[in-house]
Amino acid sequence: MTVVTRIAPSPTGFMHIGTARTALFSWLYAKRHNGKFLLRIEDTDRTRYSEEAVDALKDGLKWLGLHWDGDAVSQFESRHRHAEVAQQLVDMSKAYYCYCSPEELEQMREDARASGAKVNYDRRWRDRDASEAPEGVKPVVRIKAPLEGTTVIEDAVQGRVEKNNDELDDFILLRSDGTPTYMLSVVVDDNDSGVTHIIRGDDHLNNAFRQKVIIDAMGWDVPVYTHIPLILGPDGAKLSKRHGAQGVHEYEEMGYLPEAMRNYLLRLGWSHGDDEIISTEQAVEWFNLENIGKSAARFDFDKLASLNAHYIKQADNHRLLDLITPIMEKYGATVDDVAKDRLLKGMNALKDRAKTLNDIAEEGAFYAKKPPFVFTEKAEKNLDKDVLSALAQEIEQLSDLTEDNVQDLCKKVANDHKEGKLGKVAMPLRAALTGTTVSPSIFEAAAILGKDEVLKRLKFV
Ligand code: GLU
Repeated sequence: MTVVTRIAPSPTGFMHIGTARTALFSWLYAKRHNGKFLLRIEDTDRTRYSEEAVDALKDGLKWLGLHWDGDAVSQFESRHRHAEVAQQLVDMSKAYYCYCSPEELEQMREDARASGAKVNYDRRWRDRDASEAPEGVKPVVRIKAPLEGTTVIEDAVQGRVEKNNDELDDFILLRSDGTPTYMLSVVVDDNDSGVTHIIRGDDHLNNAFRQKVIIDAMGWDVPVYTHIPLILGPDGAKLSKRHGAQGVHEYEEMGYLPEAMRNYLLRLGWSHGDDEIISTEQAVEWFNLENIGKSAARFDFDKLASLNAHYIKQADNHRLLDLITPIMEKYGATVDDVAKDRLLKGMNALKDRAKTLNDIAEEGAFYAKKPPFVFTEKAEKNLDKDVLSALAQEIEQLSDLTEDNVQDLCKKVANDHKEGKLGKVAMPLRAALTGTTVSPSIFEAAAILGKDEVLKRLKFV
């Protein structure tokens, strides 16, 4: 059997990190078993549909490196097939036309409320003959849900979960305008695309019972259900906007690396002993459904940041340069060839200190910026003119700058002017060369900028 998993997001306008985690688990499971990972856009709600929203989902998956097999499919496009299945169920007497008016339904709801009945609809058309159908009323199609016994879901995370069938109503498959309901569409699409494993949030567990009723009625294979607990905020409440970024694109914009995000999302609900750092290759080898946690995981922003710092340190410097180039533009720095060369030389020091790509761009911007600088307030205060002109004179004497000779020279100026206090020389130099008070080693930075550029920047002070 080929394992087939899928992610079936609704186009809400962005990719939620919960969806991203479900996608990751589904992708990993497919990879682990040499199977397929499919993308289906659940776009039947046309009032919310937009192409941009679909692109946002695709972009989120692409950024995360979770490439789907084949073309993305649209649920809406298959609506005629869904209706056909509803018709098949009617033909097999497993579904029926219901001609109830809205008033009748409202009355049933009230009666059910008053009597404490578990289902609203009293199944009044379940066994009525088509000849009794009122004129000119367009019917809905309802499933004949089993009246006795239980419906059982064997869930890979939740275990065996049962629902008494008297709690399942004869729910609607096809609306009176002929459009299929979500419940029907999901089942038909999953069946038709050969999905063997459904991994999704446990907010869908309740739907699974109804979906299984349709599957059983059609005599289709039941997929392996894996309902994973939702993600909570750090305070234990349902993750929401007030906790921080919810969209995958926001993490991209904040300068997170996709591999860090994958590692983080993997650990958010799945474990392999105490391992925290798990590469994607390793995850593909290890991933299983058994180790998915049974309780809700809490989002931990610090942990994500520290994983990102780890992956940034591991990342290839040329790749980092490519990634920070567009970010630099936002900081007003244009990365030309000279800047590229400097940034590559300084990248090890920059990435060692960074938690995000934005940190690298911000701290490294001075390599690309051209003087005169707009100094930060703190940097302005550090611009000790005497020290800086002494430094300039010393630097003139050197043929070339190295990290060591800049440091020696700063020590000399410190001895001559600042009672040996190196910081009193290094800080003005940092302010003059970077315009700020934060940077990697200023001796290294000076060496990378080179004699001419350093003198130029000192002169602008
Ligand atoms: N469209 C549903 C969602 O975005 C997923 C349904 C499913 O996975 O079966 O939550």
